Amino acid sequence: MRRKMKLRRLEKMRTGGTRTKMQLSIPMPKTPDGRVYRYSPNAEAHPRHFVLGDPVVGFVADPDRAVRIKYAPGTPGTVCPYSGVRADDAEFMHPDDRKAAVKIVKQAALQDMQDAVSDMLAGVARGSKSITYKPAARRSKSRPRFGRRDLMRLLVCDCCGRDYGVFAIALFCPDCGAPNLALHFAREAELVGQQVDLAESQGKDRQELAYRLLGNAHEDVLTAF
Ligand SMILES: [Zn+2]
Repeated sequence: MRRKMKLRRLEKMRTGGTRTKMQLSIPMPKTPDGRVYRYSPNAEAHPRHFVLGDPVVGFVADPDRAVRIKYAPGTPGTVCPYSGVRADDAEFMHPDDRKAAVKIVKQAALQDMQDAVSDMLAGVARGSKSITYKPAARRSKSRPRFGRRDLMRLLVCDCCGRDYGVFAIALFCPDCGAPNLALHFAREAELVGQQVDLAESQGKDRQELAYRLLGNAHEDVLTAF
């Protein structure tokens, strides 16, 4: 007797291929705000990490900004925000995410096999008077989770409206490739302004803190330049 093995978890991930050679697709790990992690294929583009959100709904660009757009927004291909290198979306996958995806598939396959063996044993026991089989409770191990904690700067491209986040000064929009240094500078100025406001709002008893805040603000101004 040959029975088809049920592969419930793997079938759920299947997006193509045949039953014996499945093509699976695993959703990309995301930040709590729903942005996907990306990693520049350019090894020189420190720190390589960035996150990509969805385009802002209803965004309308200034017509004179549109001339800065290098690639049609929303089309395949990603631009490294740190170096401007453009490559296929798949090349921006972090090696850890690739490893994680393999781990998820392995775990699903293992659990499917355990279930299948358990079903087979139950089947054998049903046809036999001398064997009883009590299946163990089916454990569903929680999927591995991934987290990254870094200080992220969130930006919205003022040319195409794409939401993204970077971990250092970035010069290009990862979607349309527009040079975005001015955007970064504006955000930097906003943050420096907030630090100054915060320093000014401290009372006499917290002058040391105020001094520290202003010191940081100065450093940030230098970094921005
Ligand atoms: Zn853009």
